[in-house]
Order: sequence, then structure tokens, then C-alpha cells
Amino acid sequence: MDAIVALAKRRGFIFQSSEIYGGFNGFFDYGPVGAELKKNIRDCWWADMVRRREDTVGIETSIIMHPKVWEASGHVAGFTDPLVDCKVSKQRFRADQLFFAVVVVNDQPIGYVSALESVDTAATLQGMAESLKRRKAIQGVLAPIVAKDFTEATAEEIPLIPSPATGEPGSLTAPRGFNMMFQTNVGAMTDGSSVAYLRPETAQGMFVDFKNVVDTGRVKLPFGIAQIGKSFRNEITPRNFIFRSREFEQMEMEYFISEDADWATAHREWIEWCKHWLLSIGLPAALLSEYDHPKAKLAFYSKGTTDIMFQYPFGVQELWGIAARGNYDLTQHATASGKSTEYFDEASKKKFVPHVIEPAVGVDRIFLAVLCAGYAEEEIKDEKGNVEKRTVLRLSPRIAPVKVAVLPLLKNKEALVGRARDLYKKLQRRYAVFYDEAGAIGRRYRRQDEIGTPWCVTIDFETIEKDGTFTLRERDSMQQRRITETELFALLEDAVTEHPRQKRRR
Ligand code: ATP
Repeated sequence: MDAIVALAKRRGFIFQSSEIYGGFNGFFDYGPVGAELKKNIRDCWWADMVRRREDTVGIETSIIMHPKVWEASGHVAGFTDPLVDCKVSKQRFRADQLFFAVVVVNDQPIGYVSALESVDTAATLQGMAESLKRRKAIQGVLAPIVAKDFTEATAEEIPLIPSPATGEPGSLTAPRGFNMMFQTNVGAMTDGSSVAYLRPETAQGMFVDFKNVVDTGRVKLPFGIAQIGKSFRNEITPRNFIFRSREFEQMEMEYFISEDADWATAHREWIEWCKHWLLSIGLPAALLSEYDHPKAKLAFYSKGTTDIMFQYPFGVQELWGIAARGNYDLTQHATASGKSTEYFDEASKKKFVPHVIEPAVGVDRIFLAVLCAGYAEEEIKDEKGNVEKRTVLRLSPRIAPVKVAVLPLLKNKEALVGRARDLYKKLQRRYAVFYDEAGAIGRRYRRQDEIGTPWCVTIDFETIEKDGTFTLRERDSMQQRRITETELFALLEDAVTEHPRQKRRR
């Protein structure tokens, strides 16, 4: 993870927000190549989710909506995370990310240990239990620890559990609900009447505009409304780089189905679609898995939620949640606004409030996943046979920030530079391209490897003196071959603009 964070900074993918002022926890900026990569992720999603589907439309709703939206949706009352304070260190923790265990030796409890969630929390706690036993010089058999999260701690246990900040018991408070919505005031007044919220999810925009889309969008059930946009959550512990931040971007889709449609089939189809899409932008299947939320932990209206998980360096974590939400949201808004959210079905002549399947994903989490999956350090031999380290980002051409780099072999040969600039200008009309004439050719290749550029074309003496072909160098294999301009454009067209599923269907 450290190597990936360092590369992200060094090559201009991601910077800390407000870095010259010491940074601002939970906020990030995307640099020149990062902004391109992020835009490509968004554009691929929009193309596949909205433009290439006949049953989906896209909208863009405002970030600050009427505060009543968030009362009706349940966010004002219930969009909380359980917060624990350490009274001594003044640090705050999310109770469900703080784990503890009772330490038992010869069937007798000898104390408690605690740790913040990590790749292997249980092993950390086990190690702490062993050192507690040693510190207390107690002989006997240490029972395997059973890790619980702090929301499960009883009132009697809370004073006995050490704070992860100080290692001492007695300073942790009982968990309490902390609302994660950012508040602001709209208009010149700053009293309670002007309170509004930055949206914590984009989904409510789709529900609130449901009727408008039905009336204007020529849509028929089943159909989806999709949106991409920023969301804001005052996360208690933003962490793991851009995985959990306070300002992030979501790509959400509300897929409306009839009240008597088979929701389980629709839900499964969306899980498969989302997994397939992740493969199409280059994530390997081996790093993806599914997690079904236990029925007992679901909200009362929820029929089922499955998360597509990704194996990040810091553990397997949620990437994309696919929830079957019944008709809860549309019903809530109908009740709160007094406006109908019913749909009239021409075929059955019935009126009802549609049900919904919601695949919701964060752009930043996908961004981090593609960086983690694509990052590799290799040992290779240079032209003189010396072993050197190569850092390479194996990004799919669909999302790579730069599709091709154009390199004249020498910068002081006008004919080479002229031809290279000419090709560069031509490619630029359609693709993100990079022109680089500085330094040895091997170093220039290396720079492109680090930002994930799939191909480099070198304009050399053969180009200008013989048949006009260029040297095409591939990032992954590092192999080189000669290619004509027409072949180069065909290669890019195929790799960059096609969706693999669409291609197969033809
Ligand atoms: P988590 O349990 O990780 O907090 P969540 O279940 O609350 O996530 P949802 O409300 O379902 O997340 O949001 C949908 C998607 O938005 C998530 O799957 C994730 O990709 C993204 N997301 C949510 N919170 C954040 C965040 N703080 N930073 C970055 N992305 C986020």
C-alpha cells in the first residue's frame, strides 16, 4: 500500500487536499493523470450503464436538496455510525471498527485487549492476549480469543476494555449515534430554519425525480435511472487512502421493477452485470468476491443486499453494494411530500409503487482497486544486460489515463520530431496521448509504464527513411513490433472504445 500511495503522489494521480496547509483529513485531490483515470472510469460506466442500455436513462441532480428529502429518507434520524470517545486521548473511534476480546487463562478471565480493525484483527488481539498473560506472569493455558466489535460490549465490560489510544481501560465511552451528514445553511439566515445538508448519497435524487422522469423520459418498467456525482459523509475515521474519505464520488443506479416482478432474479442479474463490468475495466476475477448481508442485520424494508468485495492490500472490503430495497424510498417520499409516486402499468392497467434494485458504487474505490490490482514491481534486464527494477501499472486500455505515448527517437533531428508531432496532433483528436522527447528512450518507456500507458510509438529512422512504420512497444510484454499508422488507429479503436461484452454479442 505504501508503494502505491507513493507512486500515486510521485506520478500525479492523487495528492492530499490542501497539502501546503498540512493536508485536510479525509479529502483528496486528483492530479493530472489521476483526473484522466477517474474520468475514464466514469465515462466507461456511463457508456455501459446509460448509453448502451435501452432500459436506462441518466440524470444529474443537485448536491443540496430540500432538507425534507433527508427526513423522509430516514437520513436525519438514522444515518449514523456508532461513535466511541476516549476521554483521555480525546480520540474518536467507530465502535464497529474497534475490536476487543476477553483474555482467558485456565478458564479464568485475566483482562481485556483491544485493537482497531486491520488486515488480521484476530491475530493482533491474540498477540496482545499473549503479552498480557506474560506481563501479569500468569501460568496456564491461554484460551483462543473471541474477537467482538465494540457495539457488542456490555455496560459491565466497557470500563474494563483498554482504549486503543492509551492501552489503559476506563476511558472509553459507550457508543452513541453520530450523524454523518454535513450540515450547511442556505440563504442569509443561519438559524435552524435554514439548515440543509450536503447529500450523503446520490440515490435520493433518483427517487425524488422519479415522477419527472416517468412523465418525460418515455420509460417503461423495468427501467433504471442512473447518476454520477459527489457525495459527502463526515466519516469518523477516514482511512486507507481514498477508500474511505469524507468527499467522494458515487455512481448509482435505481432499477425500478414491477411490484410483482421476481426481485431475486433481477437482483442476481445486477450482481452479475456489475461483476462483469469490473472485469471489463481490467479487475481480475480472482480479487473479487461476494458478501451477502445476513438477513438479521438488514433494514426492515430490505429484501437482500449483496456486496461485491475487492481484495485490497489492507483486506477484503466492500467495493459495490447491490441492494433490493422494495418500494420503501418511493413510498416514503410519497407520504412526506403528499405527491404520488405510483406508476401506471399499461399492460395490466394497474397502478402501484415500483420496487427497486440499487447497485451503488464509489468511483474512488474503483480507482483504488485498479491501482492496487495493476501495480507491479519487476526485475528486468536493460540493453546492456544489467538488472533493473521496473514499476508498472497494468491498467486496461479502456481506463488508462494516457492511451499512447509518441516518442521521437532523437530530439535534435527535425525530421523525426516533425513526424512525431504530426502523429501526436492526429492522435490527440481522438485519444489522450502524451508527447515526450526528453531523455533516453528506455527512461521514457519507464515513465509511461508507471502511469499505465499501454503503448508507446517511437518515430525512428526507418519511419522517415523507409516505409513510414513506427516501433510499437507494448507495456506488459515490453515487446516491440513495427506498425503502420492505419494499424495503430485500428488497434486503439478496438482496445479503447469497445466494451468486451458488446463485441462478443455482434
Ligand atoms: P461502508 O460500509 O464501507 O461505509 P456503505 O455500505 O455505507 O459503505 P453505501 O452507502 O452502500 O456504502 O454506498 C455505496 C458505495 O459508495 C459503497 O459501496 C462505496 O463504494 C462508496 N462509498 C461509501 N462510503 C464511502 C466513503 N466514505 N469513501 C469512498 N467511497 C464510499
